[in-house]
Amino acid sequence: MTRTVPDQTDLFVVGGGPAGLATAIAARQCGFGVVVADGARPPIDKACGEGFLPDGMAALQRLGIQIPASETWAFRGIRFWSSDRSADAVFPESSCGLAIRRIALHRVMVERAKQLGAHLLWGTPVTGISAEGVRLNDCFVRARWIVGADGANSRVRRWAGLDRSRPRLRYAFRRHFRVAPWTDHMEVYWGEHCQGYATGVSHDQVCIALASHDPKLRLEGGLHCLPRLAARLHGAEIVSTERGALTGNRQFRRVWRNNVVLVGDASGTVDAITGEGMGLAFSQAISLADSLRSGDLNAYQHEHRRLALRPQWMARLMLTMDRRPKLQQRTLRVFQRHPEIFQRLVEFHVGILPPSHLVCHGLTLGWELLTI
Ligand SMILES: Cc1cc2nc3c(=O)[nH]c(=O)nc-3n(C[C@H](O)[C@H](O)[C@H](O)COP(=O)(O)OP(=O)(O)OC[C@H]3O[C@@H](n4cnc5c(N)ncnc54)[C@H](O)[C@@H]3O)c2cc1C
Repeated sequence: MTRTVPDQTDLFVVGGGPAGLATAIAARQCGFGVVVADGARPPIDKACGEGFLPDGMAALQRLGIQIPASETWAFRGIRFWSSDRSADAVFPESSCGLAIRRIALHRVMVERAKQLGAHLLWGTPVTGISAEGVRLNDCFVRARWIVGADGANSRVRRWAGLDRSRPRLRYAFRRHFRVAPWTDHMEVYWGEHCQGYATGVSHDQVCIALASHDPKLRLEGGLHCLPRLAARLHGAEIVSTERGALTGNRQFRRVWRNNVVLVGDASGTVDAITGEGMGLAFSQAISLADSLRSGDLNAYQHEHRRLALRPQWMARLMLTMDRRPKLQQRTLRVFQRHPEIFQRLVEFHVGILPPSHLVCHGLTLGWELLTI
């Protein structure tokens, strides 16, 4: 099939993953002309826990992305497991999280972007950018704005000279198992050297992701450190190939320069443990479109920083337990003794509770950890 490439556009979005498509949708909602190019072809898959927390779902709704119920699996809260201890909390105000396979999400987002009139180019890597526009293998497209939505290892970020940060990243892998979800919570299993994340994605499939600092620890090896999770999966058919990715908190001082602006993982990442990367990217896309409309990218920079604060902080807090089995046990014991602390943390995590309301629970947690 021949591919038509427009000569020029308002916005050229490099990368058609969740962040690029969300940006295309938000920009079209504001009336901009949009071209998206991705080197891969849909539906694009990626290592991911595949869950949206309630705040991410609110962003999905603002973008008008409607996912058929048959493609999703709802969860009511978050549960931590460490050895034989667990703590759980439900999302406030009867809200739910939603899990969806990445390939299904991609398909729905592509449809929404097409419906709004975005021009989508697949199998089309971007090979360079200049002040005037974007270079593809065989042509050049003039663009008023260039959006780097090309993922954590963004070349656009490098080309624009925005790539200044030292990452401290972890290694993550994911696979799907054919087994009925055993819980209506998204579960995090804490091991000595890794965490396993379990999210039901349909009536008969569970997505398992594993993250650790060890580049050699793949999913199968990690499950040996997580016997409770391994027992849940025992004998279940594996129904997807293993995919790997890097994860971690990473921030950049600036997310735009001249006519180049970054969104999604290209603009900084939050650790997979937050389950927030896509929701965050969607909120950034909405904010970016608003700022482009008003012509004030400093407003985007400011909002970008504000949006990332909460998940970055939560990731740092949760990862204090990483590689500290004793602290994991003590924390879980405190959460069991004071379930309201875990409940408030989850409420803060999904953006319902202001930070000031956490102070007293933080003090109780600190005191109990010292004295338990
Ligand atoms: C193990 C793990 C679990 C996670 N779990 C969750 C979760 O439960 N919930 C959640 O919300 N988030 C989660 N995340 C985070 C989430 O996966 C990312 O935040 C999200 O994929 C970011 O989307 P993106 O579009 O910015 O980047 P990507 O998904 O990486 O997409 C970038 C796109 O750019 C394209 N591209 C790259 N270079 C070029 C180029 N030169 N030209 C054209 N195209 C290019 C690529 O082909 C790709 O399609 C998890 C991450 C990991 C690693």
